[in-house]
Amino acid sequence: MKTLDQINFKNKKALVRVDFNVPLNDKFEVTDNTRIVAAKPSIDKIVADGGIAILMSHLGRPKGKEAKFSLKHIVPEVEKVLGRKIKFASDSIGQDVEKAVEALKPGDILLLENLRFYPEEKKGDVDFAKSLAKLADYYVNDAFGTAHRAHASTAVIADFFDKEHKAFGKLLEKEVKSIQKALGEGNRPITAIIGGAKVSSKIGVIENLIDKVDNLIIVGGMAYTFLKALGNKIGDSIVEDDKIDLAKKILEKIRAKGVRLILPVDLVVADKFSNDANTKVVSIGQIPDHWQGLDIGPETIKMIDAVIQDSKTIIWNGPAGVFEFEKFAHGTESIGLSIGKASVKGAYSLVGGGDSVAAVKKLGLTDKISYISTGGGALLEMLEGKDLPGIKALM
Ligand code: AMP
Repeated sequence: MKTLDQINFKNKKALVRVDFNVPLNDKFEVTDNTRIVAAKPSIDKIVADGGIAILMSHLGRPKGKEAKFSLKHIVPEVEKVLGRKIKFASDSIGQDVEKAVEALKPGDILLLENLRFYPEEKKGDVDFAKSLAKLADYYVNDAFGTAHRAHASTAVIADFFDKEHKAFGKLLEKEVKSIQKALGEGNRPITAIIGGAKVSSKIGVIENLIDKVDNLIIVGGMAYTFLKALGNKIGDSIVEDDKIDLAKKILEKIRAKGVRLILPVDLVVADKFSNDANTKVVSIGQIPDHWQGLDIGPETIKMIDAVIQDSKTIIWNGPAGVFEFEKFAHGTESIGLSIGKASVKGAYSLVGGGDSVAAVKKLGLTDKISYISTGGGALLEMLEGKDLPGIKALM
């Protein structure tokens, strides 16, 4: 694994795959610059060496060259974050780009146009990757958010650079090391809290975690498939009936491995899926007909807190309830607070996934959590124990 610190970029050009897929408002202003801030250390290192950084990214899901998805909109925000002027190329490959690259001087930064203006990017087209590769001496991948994709700029391009000329960006390195730290060499007890809407989207994660953790906490919508598999009445709660048998098999594996499983023991139930629903707290098995569970209850929150406070390593992905409605956000926020408290006491905590990250940010816990992952799908695939194409290509 070659890292940026092992390379001196003086007078060299580095093509850096970043994840600048940031949200924009209707005035095309960046509304959350987290991903740009996350890429800054790698860019700073290349420039500080006296090298040239050529940045490439995708933005949104354009169908061809759609002006609203141009990366030119984000230039002012990138300049603000980096604290210096950058140049912009209105294409990502071709003669004009090559000419612009030739004119660059040590310390310059050039941002290429949205890679997904070419359908070849997502197809992993070899010629497109080659056209990008010839722009630079080194390839650096710092886009953890797309590391699970075998796209031209995230994986295929790496074949055009030998081992000495391709490297992990600082963000990618940090992401991989923090997941290794939590799962590979995590201090015990290790606790994973998995939430979210559906079991089907996290089966691989749960199965892999059974082999790694001491405590597995399952919350959110997916808990109801497990609760039903155990014979509980769940009313109108969200459930995947076609996954009941699978849930039974997973429960059996959890038992066989001696992992402690924590499922909700009480719930906040509602008479409709709405923030102005009537609600009450009931024990498992007591959900009235036509009511649905939309959050975990106070006993469950207490139980989860106790497990988290006893843990030395904590991994959290996915909300405990329909946190988008204030009435059902308490469970998710309580888990965030518990993890924050345990982290202050010395536990190593890794939080990832849009909803869980939003919760810790809202609670002002960002500084307390040991590592907040920038990846959604990529993090889930790492937790599944899969080899990510973007990472494999650098090895
Ligand atoms: P995911 O994308 O799989 O992590 O799922 C996130 C979504 O799960 C959020 O939009 C939550 O509103 C939803 N969710 C969590 N708990 C429940 C629940 N008890 N019933 C329905 N949806 C839920």
